[in-house]
Amino acid sequence: MSQKIPVAVLGATGTVGQKFIRLLAEHPWFQVTAVAASATSAGRLYGEVVRWREPVSLPASIAGMVMRECAPPLDARIVFSALNAEVAGSIEQEFARAGAYVVTNTRTHRMEPDIPLLIPEANADHLGLIDRQRKERGWKGAILANPNCSTAALVLALTPLHRAFEVERVFVSTMQAVSGAGYPGVASLDIVGNVIPYIRGEEEKIERESRKVLGALADQLVRPAGFAISAHANRVPVVDGHMMTVSAGFTRRVGLDEALTVLRGFRPPRSVAELPSSPDPPIEVDDRPDRPQPRIDLDRGRGMAITVGRVRPCPVLDLRLVVLGHNTVRGAAGQAVQIAELLVAEGRVERRAGSERGL
Ligand code: NAP
Repeated sequence: MSQKIPVAVLGATGTVGQKFIRLLAEHPWFQVTAVAASATSAGRLYGEVVRWREPVSLPASIAGMVMRECAPPLDARIVFSALNAEVAGSIEQEFARAGAYVVTNTRTHRMEPDIPLLIPEANADHLGLIDRQRKERGWKGAILANPNCSTAALVLALTPLHRAFEVERVFVSTMQAVSGAGYPGVASLDIVGNVIPYIRGEEEKIERESRKVLGALADQLVRPAGFAISAHANRVPVVDGHMMTVSAGFTRRVGLDEALTVLRGFRPPRSVAELPSSPDPPIEVDDRPDRPQPRIDLDRGRGMAITVGRVRPCPVLDLRLVVLGHNTVRGAAGQAVQIAELLVAEGRVERRAGSERGL
């Protein structure tokens, strides 16, 4: 691509915002042309206001950008939102109304019936919902949502199993990293040497979002998957990486070997596999008895692959497994970038800046 597509990042100074900056700095299709956050940051240089926490140097081209307020126009066709949920709703709508494709990490719009909730490997076809959204809302752009960070890893692991055996019941207990709460997030005195068995709203999000992502799209409507799901969410003293233990029951008895074959063999359609951010394979199965572990296995597939381990029979449901996913990459910025790549690959955004179809 000779001319890159201009993109903006809202909430660019936060935990997820910084991950966007890092991933987009070296992206083959996209170029960051605007960074925005709260009014306190606006007008100052990004390098001055950001408390940069990524383990690579802040790109000089971004450090020197003047922070903007979160209001259109930002001269970007794709807008990534890493805003606090409390402020995201109306800001994201304004951008979509003004003609931008907004790919959001916030919970605000996820469950609205005309907003696709996407994991490209699982439900790329749900992208079609944006036609309904644009028509009904009269928007020139659209909002597309990323699921919650635990849901992203859980559902990616369930996708091949659901397709092969149809999931009937799921029990999931999460061990979620502190970076999932943003910066400064959980107070150190609360979490160091401790476990907190409560994350506000998280269990409800996992339960409803997983059924929407794995639902079937027909007549511009998603019929949620019919399985029952029970989630327990825990905050643990890990910096990055959400791990979860999962038990799943299916419409028929599932053998260990066939489950492993299905997990190992899972590949998305070629249109998704060929996106720059898509890992190959998306699910890495690790047979070692003490894996996955966040500190060792988190960056597989540049943080976009999930690791599944300890796959074994379950005496209550059919199968037990452990799932690990990178909460700010697969669970947030990385997958949002992958969704934007899907928009481009599907022809919704033209590869040459400034000549988009339908606008
Ligand atoms: P964060 O570290 O607290 O960052 C929040 C960002 O929002 C900052 O850039 C902040 O800018 C900006 N902001 C705050 N108030 C604003 C306002 N009134 N107007 C405009 N911008 C404002 O949070 P985070 O962890 O990056 O999370 C961002 C979003 O992603 C949240 O909705 C979260 O639920 C979701 N998410 C997070 C994760 C994760 O693992 N952390 C995963 C999935 C989804 P200033 O610096 O100027 O205050």
